[in-house]
Amino acid sequence: MKNKIWLSSPHMGGNEQAYIKEAFDTNWIAPLGPNVTGFETDLETYLGQNKKVACLSSGTAAIHLALVQLGVGLNDEVICQTFTFCGSANPITYQGAKPVFVDSESDTWNMCPNHLELAIKDRIKKGKKPKAIIIVHLYGMPSKVDELLEVAKKYQIPVIEDAAEALGSTYKGQKCGTFGDFSILSFNGNKIITTSGGGAMVCNSVKDKNQTIFYATQARDNAPHYEHSKIGYNYRMSNISAGIGRGQMEVLDKHVSLRRKINQFYVDLFKNIEGIEVQKEPSSEFHSNFWLSCILIKENAPFTIAQFQEAMTKENIETRPLWKPMHLQPIFKNQPYYGDGLSQLLFKTGLCLPSGSNLTEGDLQRIALVVNNLT
Ligand SMILES: *Cc1c(COP(=O)(O)O)cnc(C)c1O
Repeated sequence: MKNKIWLSSPHMGGNEQAYIKEAFDTNWIAPLGPNVTGFETDLETYLGQNKKVACLSSGTAAIHLALVQLGVGLNDEVICQTFTFCGSANPITYQGAKPVFVDSESDTWNMCPNHLELAIKDRIKKGKKPKAIIIVHLYGMPSKVDELLEVAKKYQIPVIEDAAEALGSTYKGQKCGTFGDFSILSFNGNKIITTSGGGAMVCNSVKDKNQTIFYATQARDNAPHYEHSKIGYNYRMSNISAGIGRGQMEVLDKHVSLRRKINQFYVDLFKNIEGIEVQKEPSSEFHSNFWLSCILIKENAPFTIAQFQEAMTKENIETRPLWKPMHLQPIFKNQPYYGDGLSQLLFKTGLCLPSGSNLTEGDLQRIALVVNNLT
């Protein structure tokens, strides 16, 4: 069997183990230490905009703590992009709150500003103003940030920016992960950089950063003994994971440019094949890290999704349907939804293709061969 070609697998830069060794040598084997502080500083420098970063155990934990700090509680409503991974939406329910799902627009596949405003108006009319809006830059493609923030501002609703897939992407020259009242990153194994598992909260102030760390370390009050006046969580990143993160930061820009090259490979590969559309940036204002390259397979294509997936699987090449919209998930089927069904159409006709920065020339040739044999 030929070796497996994954959608996106960990790609080490080379210095990760040196940072981990340092942690061992100095016995910082804990959810705090110099690597955590160092990784936070690296991220703050990278993101700019005077942001403050708190490293956490996962991106999902970061979304949860953003909701906690925005005061989201029992029976509150939170608007969330429906076309996303469940990690965006699940934390809403941890707070006993209810997700309200909003569909995407076709340019970026992210939250549609018009549907967002319709949703807000209708929720207010029904008696409840949403407590927060979770926007996502899916597959690394920046959403229509200005339009979305304008609607949020008009109704004075705070924004949580889920940039889990979009580290290294920019919108109008500004880094994704710097647009929210709180923004979150993920360093899960399949993301553009990884700490084997981890996440971060990007904050607007030192106060917010400190408060995030407070909640992430069991909300311990300032006292000589353990005193608690708030419910806290055990969500801090370990100093070992952060060591991997520091090594990964050294190669982040390189990984972004490699993923963009792979996207260009697919653009060229499918250029002359009717009915296949590679996801692309709507204009030069949107700069995607192309975390995953995605295609839509239309009815006039020379092969169906099933035929394509079968041919790829046979060659031990991973492909995957696009994210199944949250409003179609059994866990969320009774939640309110606003949109025109675009995400459902994308789910039905789209596929993610191998996109890792560690794909070799030989891997790309194997992929091209499958496509050429089908046409
Ligand atoms: C990966 C991901 C998350 C969650 O991050 P974890 O670190 O896996 O908890 C949230 N939202 C999106 C869009 C993601 O892709």
